[in-house]
Amino acid sequence: MEVEVEELHTPWGVKENVKLTFKGTGSLSFRSGLYPGLVDSHAHPHVIDGGLEEGRKWSNYIEWFEKRRLLVNESTLRQDLELCTALSKLTLMLSALEGTTLIALTGNYKANIRAATELKNKPRVVTMPTIINKNGWDPLEIVAPIIKQLENFDANDMLGVGIFCHSLRYTSEKYIRTCVQLCDTNNMLLGIHLSEGIPELDVLRRILLKPPKTSIIGVHCIEDEDYETFNIRTVQCASSNLALYGRTQRELGKVYAFGSDWPLLFGSMVNELKVLIDIHSEKKIDDIILRATINGYKLFKVDFRGDYVFFDDKLEKALRAGKRPSYVFVKGYPLVREGKVNGYTYDEILSMISQVREEAIKRHGIWGEGDGKRDGPSSGLRIPIHASNS
Ligand SMILES: [Zn+2]
Repeated sequence: MEVEVEELHTPWGVKENVKLTFKGTGSLSFRSGLYPGLVDSHAHPHVIDGGLEEGRKWSNYIEWFEKRRLLVNESTLRQDLELCTALSKLTLMLSALEGTTLIALTGNYKANIRAATELKNKPRVVTMPTIINKNGWDPLEIVAPIIKQLENFDANDMLGVGIFCHSLRYTSEKYIRTCVQLCDTNNMLLGIHLSEGIPELDVLRRILLKPPKTSIIGVHCIEDEDYETFNIRTVQCASSNLALYGRTQRELGKVYAFGSDWPLLFGSMVNELKVLIDIHSEKKIDDIILRATINGYKLFKVDFRGDYVFFDDKLEKALRAGKRPSYVFVKGYPLVREGKVNGYTYDEILSMISQVREEAIKRHGIWGEGDGKRDGPSSGLRIPIHASNS
């Protein structure tokens, strides 16, 4: 397939009238393109309810975690492999339609791996099992050997693995130290929610004593602290920070990459980029694009050859307006064609998300007569997410 692009934005500058060749036949032409594609460096595919309340803001993540009123039981939902797999697949397809060619997923890792292997067309995935001291979540002793096995599994550059310590408050200090050691000795990826409403860098310094050899992926980091000196690469999730705390990291120099955090609530990278341009201003669009593309690949050490996103408008105009790309390629193969992934449009994916959400409330709702009994027994999941008609 021959592709012509008027303006291809790359980390090495804008290239004009570029001709590219991809797998397949035919020819296409686009007004603009991105190489490599967009990276969602932090996403929770199983969050369908953030406990958000109209007009309410929290001062930090601990207050939000302890006082939020959820509609669904988070622990039992995380153990529902069928529902979580459906949510992971929908997250991957929604993300693809917003130009995401690489996505890092936390949450139920079994569901994420199932989705990443069963779905025909999907972005590259890095799955990061969460370590949290809470019922319903696997402890490190179970997760660590699985991660080591997965690291050796050759998924043709489409599936990576890392580990995610939930936070300084909800993951034990012992586990955090062990994870950093594992990360340092095995060159493994390690992420953590950090400094989300309260400065935590000094707490982490006290726990670890010295900076880790391998960079830690610090998610949020919205305080005025020097994360880089402690070998932390930060991921900003502007939409969720603004929704929860009414503020986010304003200094772009302190941000390494971006994440959507709750894609099923706020959308994926096209939506996030629109928010980021509003926060950091249009003048910084090139810096924003670097953090939304190549920096994400560097963060997760993932190959980006063949990963492109193409728009029918000039790039700045498309991103400012939150326009989705018409074609997305991963490893040189079309992932999105004419705004569809696996044959589904964006609106069809949104409608499937609300159906799965309703089913989740039926199975795991906590405002009814009792947990999981809100509307009587569940009718079962009837969403045909086979993704084979492309
Ligand atoms: Zn998060």
